[in-house]
Amino acid sequence: MPETLVDIHPYRDPALAIPERVADLLGRMTLEEKVGQMLQLDARDDLEDHVLRRNVGSILHTSPERIVAARELTLRTRLQIPLIVGEDCIHGHSFWPGATIYPTQLGMAASWDAALVEKVARATAVEVAATGIHWTFSPVLCIARDLRWGRVNETFGEDPHLIGELASAMVRGYQGEGLDDATAILATAKHFAGYSETQGGRDASEADISRRKLRSWFLPPFERVAREGCRSFMLGYQTTDGVPITLNEWLLSDVLRGEWGYTGTLITDWDNVGRMVWEQHVQPDVTHAAAAAVRAGNDMIMTTPTFFEGALDAVAKGMLAEDAFDAAVARILTLKFELGLFEDPRQPREDVAALVGTAEHAALNLELTRRSLVLLENDGTLPLLPAAPDGPPAPSATRRIAVVGPLADDAQEQLGDWAGGSGQAGWLDGQPREMIATVLDGLREIAPWEVVHARGADILTLESDPAGATWPDGQPRPPVVRPVPADEAQIAEAVAAADGADAVIAVVGDARGLYGEGRSTATLELIGGQVALLDALIETGKPVIVVLMASKPLVLPASVSKAAAVLWVANPGMQGGRAIAELITGAVEPTGRLPISFARHAGQQPTYYNQIRGQHGDRYADLTQSPAWAFGEGRSYTTVQYDDLVIEQTALAASDTIAAHVTVTNTGARPTIETVQVYVRDAVTSVSWAEKELKTYRQVSLAPGEAARVRIDLPVAECTIVDAAGNRAVEAGEFALLVGSSSREESLLCAEFTVA
Ligand code: BGC
Repeated sequence: MPETLVDIHPYRDPALAIPERVADLLGRMTLEEKVGQMLQLDARDDLEDHVLRRNVGSILHTSPERIVAARELTLRTRLQIPLIVGEDCIHGHSFWPGATIYPTQLGMAASWDAALVEKVARATAVEVAATGIHWTFSPVLCIARDLRWGRVNETFGEDPHLIGELASAMVRGYQGEGLDDATAILATAKHFAGYSETQGGRDASEADISRRKLRSWFLPPFERVAREGCRSFMLGYQTTDGVPITLNEWLLSDVLRGEWGYTGTLITDWDNVGRMVWEQHVQPDVTHAAAAAVRAGNDMIMTTPTFFEGALDAVAKGMLAEDAFDAAVARILTLKFELGLFEDPRQPREDVAALVGTAEHAALNLELTRRSLVLLENDGTLPLLPAAPDGPPAPSATRRIAVVGPLADDAQEQLGDWAGGSGQAGWLDGQPREMIATVLDGLREIAPWEVVHARGADILTLESDPAGATWPDGQPRPPVVRPVPADEAQIAEAVAAADGADAVIAVVGDARGLYGEGRSTATLELIGGQVALLDALIETGKPVIVVLMASKPLVLPASVSKAAAVLWVANPGMQGGRAIAELITGAVEPTGRLPISFARHAGQQPTYYNQIRGQHGDRYADLTQSPAWAFGEGRSYTTVQYDDLVIEQTALAASDTIAAHVTVTNTGARPTIETVQVYVRDAVTSVSWAEKELKTYRQVSLAPGEAARVRIDLPVAECTIVDAAGNRAVEAGEFALLVGSSSREESLLCAEFTVA
């Protein structure tokens, strides 16, 4: 009787348990096949070489056509192991033409709405899975510290608790009901850990960070998603105490695999193995680097093609045993079996066009974007036309607005980094224009006024880095930014538009080239002709509404203190312009809150709110240390008052839960969603600790005049510090519960409690 394929290759039998399938397949693999299985290579390179010669286990940066081509190549291999396809789908399916692009992670964070962020991740997974991609390198759990760092836009901001809430939601959204669901994709918690602790904002510089500091603020969000089942972790680029994270045994083995019991898959960042040789100079050659990376417990090696030769050489030289790869390969194969790739390689679906960039996802995008807008200042000018449900608009109502600024109508800039035009993917230079609503589009569409437009200023041009076009690994060096000088004629045109209008909407900010990997900035000011433009507009005496479309907090010029309103919108994604127009016209309420503090000057770095107590003085000789706008801040069109903060039981044990109540009252005429923020201060700690820390928050909808008694439940077990020995513990003593609308001391009510 002829044997079936399943008889010959039991690993192909879906009826067998996954561990048996893995064991069977592993037993059939040659050393070369195992080493190749640990590789993830760039699909833009020679796919045939990747698949047929290096037996690659995974590819990334795959254009639609190349996913199919790669699959066909795997069918020509001996064991036909399906590829797992990864991509940076970090605020939507970034590099898929026509996918839904949401606000950046920092923009999403301003919503403080974990449920909404989870929905966005779920919708993203539906789009991503439909296109034959199985793994997203998202979310980023790095804590934003120095605002000059180019990757601040990829973070959820500066607070570990908020990061944990939103990252956990995003992981749930991506991974859905379980990997066997055809719409589930693997999530990646990155970049493990401490990458954002830069020197002077420089990207991937040595992270000078102690284990205690890691445990205090950097690790908690990672620990949370590790324990909740985030299926992969990506290591950062940095070294700490001289050791590249790729080889950090304490972090990888003792903490992640040991203490947290993490069983997921570890992936290096881009060419981390090669970088140990050519960038960090801590390994003499790729043989040693590959051996060290395998020994340290890395599973998948991203884009170091010569890992293949290096690892084989390491075995030949006796530096690695032949079975040194088995644990990593087993983890990778397990993922592939769990995803069901052997039965269904999850190629791009035929109905992909019906699943990507849908109207339903556009509606969800709009909903999130509305919630992500943070109104920083408002002298009452906004909303421009007060809603007048029971009467006509006031006679002074706006008739004509001038929409100016270099970002008022730049569809691709609005999408920010990791989107079609941001340069990482050569197969598209932008997303379809008709899917994107700029501020000009949005206002023209919904504002009941005449809209005039002038650009007013340019921001930058990009030039090749004189140091050379590429790095030693062949990757392009980022271009150098040249600010475009202010142009008098352009400004005059904008001023004329302003003079003829009742209000000015000035959309300014940063642009591609000023953020991203290897693109940190020395300054935080608006560049190009933008400052001169704002100065001239404000000089007209017209109410100027500054819309700051900036990847990260920037420093605004002094003239902006006379602006009528300031709105920060991050990189707001495809629906940005529509949501911003709705906010300006009062069709929606501003409810976003800052997930990150804004500096008044780059020299104030760092400005995060939860700094460690203790310094001589509390200001610079020439400037306050107080940020321009602090974590948690954001205005509404109404006013909200906090009263009567009461803790039910103020003498507590470490195992108790604090039960507190506060009354929040909408004292104005418009509805709002108030983010009730709950911070804790530990009065005396055995070692120095943060002034206060966000521990929880509640979002409460309030109609005009409505009051709500909000209940806060907070386990005392959350009121920990990390002691000198690195142990996290609640220390007995006095604490303050601080409840209010932002991290600013003056916006918080205080109630004391003690822990025995
Ligand atoms: C970035 C990662 C990203 C990877 C793949 C790296 O340079 O640091 O965040 O996931 O490239 O594109």
